[in-house]
Amino acid sequence: MNGVYTESLNKLIEEFGKLPGIGPKSAERLAFYILKSEPAEAMKLADAIRDVKNKIKRCKICCNLSEEALCQICSDPRRDKSLICVVEQPKDVIALEKTGTCKWVYHVLGGHIAPLEGVEPTDLTVDKLVERVREGNVKEVIMATNPNMAGDGTSLYISSLLRSAEVKITRLARGLPTGSTIEYASGKILTDAIIGRQELE
Ligand SMILES: [Zn+2]
Repeated sequence: MNGVYTESLNKLIEEFGKLPGIGPKSAERLAFYILKSEPAEAMKLADAIRDVKNKIKRCKICCNLSEEALCQICSDPRRDKSLICVVEQPKDVIALEKTGTCKWVYHVLGGHIAPLEGVEPTDLTVDKLVERVREGNVKEVIMATNPNMAGDGTSLYISSLLRSAEVKITRLARGLPTGSTIEYASGKILTDAIIGRQELE
């Protein structure tokens, strides 16, 4: 961005420009907004960024985002710990929770298996899931990976690992359009998919 602005302003524009969906014009607009805002207001943004990076870790059981050792869902006594819903990302947990129909706990894989992109099962929390199921007391594993090729492949791989364990494995129903993602599915479609989930053969 050259020498039109001061060094620190250039730096801020550059950082905003690295954010997804923010082009050079928007980055400039955001930087000027911060420049004009009250110092205390602007610092709230800086603090929020610092807090997110310092405080958020992975739940010890389900690997979802949490500020404590256990996430809110795993530490909720009303949740049925015998039902584990397997998702790719924390954002999927939020989408499913918004339906208000889930009383299960989760397992967050941290992505999907994609050998061409160099993502192997060992890069995900697959081992931890298998361990959870082998420890017993799990009746059903609900595969809620995205209804696309990578999500289906991941789901099949995991179900093959769990085949020897005495557990029912289900997949969210096919009301979800193929190739779509859990994150962007409507609450109604997700609720139908949850209720209509089918056993994986
Ligand atoms: Zn948890």
